[in-house]
Amino acid sequence: MANSGKVMLESAQQLIADAAKRVGFDDQFIARVIMPERILEFALPIKMDDGTVKVYKGYRSQHSSLRGPYKGGIRFHQNVTREEVEALSLLMTIKTSVANIPMGGGKGGIIVDPKSLTQNELKRLSEIYADKLSPFMGQDIDIPAPDVNTNPTIMKWMLDAYEQKKEKKEPAAFTGKAVAHGGSLGREEATGYGGVIALQELLSRLHSNKQSPLTIAIQGFGNVGYFFAEAAGNNGHHIVAVSDSKGGIYSSDGKALDPQMVLACKKEQGSISGCYCSGGVCDSKKGKQISNEELLTLPVDILVPAALEGVITSHNMKDIKAKIIVEMANGPITEEAREYLVHNNVLILPDVLANAGGVIVSYLEWVQGKQGYWWTKEEVLKKLEALMKTAFADVWTRSQEAQIDLKSAAFEVALQRLAVYL
Ligand code: NAD
Repeated sequence: MANSGKVMLESAQQLIADAAKRVGFDDQFIARVIMPERILEFALPIKMDDGTVKVYKGYRSQHSSLRGPYKGGIRFHQNVTREEVEALSLLMTIKTSVANIPMGGGKGGIIVDPKSLTQNELKRLSEIYADKLSPFMGQDIDIPAPDVNTNPTIMKWMLDAYEQKKEKKEPAAFTGKAVAHGGSLGREEATGYGGVIALQELLSRLHSNKQSPLTIAIQGFGNVGYFFAEAAGNNGHHIVAVSDSKGGIYSSDGKALDPQMVLACKKEQGSISGCYCSGGVCDSKKGKQISNEELLTLPVDILVPAALEGVITSHNMKDIKAKIIVEMANGPITEEAREYLVHNNVLILPDVLANAGGVIVSYLEWVQGKQGYWWTKEEVLKKLEALMKTAFADVWTRSQEAQIDLKSAAFEVALQRLAVYL
């Protein structure tokens, strides 16, 4: 969607303006919080393997450093736009503030389809991006991390290029590194695991007296979807539907799918949709293949969009049957749909809270890198749990006091923390 970055940016700006007005901040405050401090735009020429030179475009939006260094991922995608990067950086400012970690918001991107590059070309592109960004970043200024289509290998290439330019070791300048290269234990599962901590906190506040296990449908079975499924299953919930980009599977009699089996089958077959009940993925007799659109409207207790932005819109909002939605992807529900669902008593655990586990463990990786001392996985996950529970409690309390939905409350909590520095 060519326009989705602009839509996301306008929605995020509107949410900030509305929240600021509700808590009594003026237009000057709104302007200061909305406007990014700096957006860098780079020409990135690289030599292709055939000897020709191609120039790519890269961005880094350094949205806010009010609460600490800019923090946010770098995305490699053909649909990256300046507006999308700006919107995502703004949401990072809100997310780090909701999580109450001493960091601000940033985001980067390169307009490229990484699948069209060889490994060597991808490495050169990553290195030149880090090289161009190096005067404007560092462990106390701006700390990039992986995002869509970037990974620990790319972080290592970027960190090497950055350290070479600066002529010093500075592992805390990037997070999301492999553990062997100074990454943190627990980072891999952090986002999905953190989402389930937030969900459990929500359920405990609701005092649900439903005895049978709650049923969950998850769209997207990548890093976030898989670890969410695993942690939710460990908490006694039944994952009854999962999907990836090629479609999904549904256990319509409520019997639980086994996330590990689904993953093994996906790896073997290349997609989830062909996996139904193969190799003991489930023990249900009422299983069927479903499309991604069907997954969103299943009669389940909890719906978890964990793939893309803008999947719940005015087109399907009236068909949503789940009473709880956990936004594990960034921005999976459009503003119009959110307002409709909230009005119809659907509880939405917002992205800036639900998926904050990722940035929280990135923060813990940064702390470990700076002090040169590493914690065990148990220690990391314990700290993550404490931070997630506190963030949830702050947002929940605000929503109860002001009688507003959780996303509105999260934005109010974030803005009040930012206001302290203005
Ligand atoms: P990923 O690349 O590991 O997985 C994405 C999954 O979505 C894959 O299973 C893919 O097949 C699926 N998918 C792609 N297109 C789809 C479609 N049209 N319909 C259904 N499924 C589709 O990515 P991830 O790291 O799991 O991230 C998922 C979402 O969570 C993104 O929105 C990301 O921004 C957000 N997020 C991730 C983290 C993190 O730590 N990884 C942190 C915060 C937010």
